[in-house]
Amino acid sequence: MSVAAQPLFALDNSYVRELDGLYEAWQAAPAPAARLLVLNEELAAELGVDADALAAPDGVAVLAGNDTPEGTTPVAQAYAGHQFGGYSPRLGDGRALLLGEVLDVHGRRRDLHLKGSGRTPFARGGDGKAAVGPMLREYVIGEAMHALGIPTTRALAVVATGEGVARETLLPGAVLSRVAASHLRVGTFEYAARRDDPALVRRLADYAIARHHPGASEAEDPYLALLEGVVDVQASLVARWMLVGFIHGVMNTDNMTISGETIDYGPCAFMEAFDPATVFSSIDHGGRYAYGNQPPIAQWNLARLAETLLPLIDADTDTAVAAATDVLGSFPDRFHRYWSHGMRAKLGMTHDREEDGALIDDLLALLRAQRVDYTSGFRALSSALLGDAARARSLFAEPSAFDAWAERWRARLSSEGDLKTVAEAMDRVNPAYIARNHRVEEALAAATGDDLEPFNRLLQVLVRPFDERPGLEAYAAPAPPDFGEYRTFCGT
Ligand code: AMP
Ligand code: MG
Repeated sequence: MSVAAQPLFALDNSYVRELDGLYEAWQAAPAPAARLLVLNEELAAELGVDADALAAPDGVAVLAGNDTPEGTTPVAQAYAGHQFGGYSPRLGDGRALLLGEVLDVHGRRRDLHLKGSGRTPFARGGDGKAAVGPMLREYVIGEAMHALGIPTTRALAVVATGEGVARETLLPGAVLSRVAASHLRVGTFEYAARRDDPALVRRLADYAIARHHPGASEAEDPYLALLEGVVDVQASLVARWMLVGFIHGVMNTDNMTISGETIDYGPCAFMEAFDPATVFSSIDHGGRYAYGNQPPIAQWNLARLAETLLPLIDADTDTAVAAATDVLGSFPDRFHRYWSHGMRAKLGMTHDREEDGALIDDLLALLRAQRVDYTSGFRALSSALLGDAARARSLFAEPSAFDAWAERWRARLSSEGDLKTVAEAMDRVNPAYIARNHRVEEALAAATGDDLEPFNRLLQVLVRPFDERPGLEAYAAPAPPDFGEYRTFCGT
């Protein structure tokens, strides 16, 4: 008796069915010698896919773009975008394809997408390829973010293609498979809105509402409610970035999702010494996407989304603008609510008190003035609360300033109940481990030379960021001074 092979993925194509005009059907370029480098077994299980089958040759062929699952239509998605403030009318997936959508074990629709799978009609001057290092970077930072509880796209796998990719030097090529709530971007709306086809923006907005903000369909004005939904998830997302010191690095409107997930791990990195002006990206000369600018930039991007929705919000432009402006204007308050709630948790404060704002601001001012490592600084607070201040004090060049602050803070916490319980709760929100730049670089350099051991070790550390483990001190420490000033690159 023969058993029919189970298809790896049962892929749906709602995007293709419903959004004609926003994609080009396309096939991946073949990978000459596909080899699996890393597979996300936990995510595979969530998708209801057998990890062993994915790791077998037939599975790797799909993850490399060499084989297309039966019944699916891969497409390159069209989008536009404001990049560093300037408008590019036609970006789109230049080196990526949407394979289709998987309904995961929770019944959620998730995009399965390949990145680095060859040139598409949107490739412009690019080669359509990706290198092992940057794709593993997206994998590990995405997993670190997920483990920190931050909404994010995630990598399912990275496959080496066996092909060289010409960058500054010849690098080993790779394809990343990415899972996302969807790949709808602010830039998707910008593209649709300039097509001269009002029905297209409406179709896109209806699709986005059904997929991400279903409550909006019940609202008096569904499109205004969609805008409000996106404003809210982005306010929450950027607050979460700020709370862990994450700098996205290239917050162009094509890199901002409608779902509220973090997307496109290019020049991103975690800040070490606390300084709102921190920038890592080598092309961000003006500091547009500096750590401290992320909230206003998010709001600026959301204004670009709002513009595309105006004709749907009201036939009268003045009425539409007034309504959209109101919603956009709620961003700073929403952001601040999410952020201060998170900050209070980092400081062990569960209920809201008048003096909390000053305690938070004063601590941040101290961290900044003394260039204290943001992650270590917050992590050390739980010990300080339980009477061992040495760890925190050692991070300050002038610990007396910290002592004075800590005295006020301890007095404030006396109303929070059992301090051991408070300290434990703090350790669940202040990570011991973040993706340290020198550790990431070390792991990627080794992986580019075919040694995946440092990468896998780093991944094991980062998937349990709150669980401090003996022997891993070197992963918790900031970069040594000889690592120098960190620079990241977009040309991935
Ligand atoms: P990113 O900086 O990754 O967000 O990409 C911005 C735009 O450039 C998107 O339209 C990408 O598809 C495109 N792009 C980036 N790298 C390449 C490449 N090597 N080949 C083709 N298109 C690319
Ligand atoms: Mg992008």
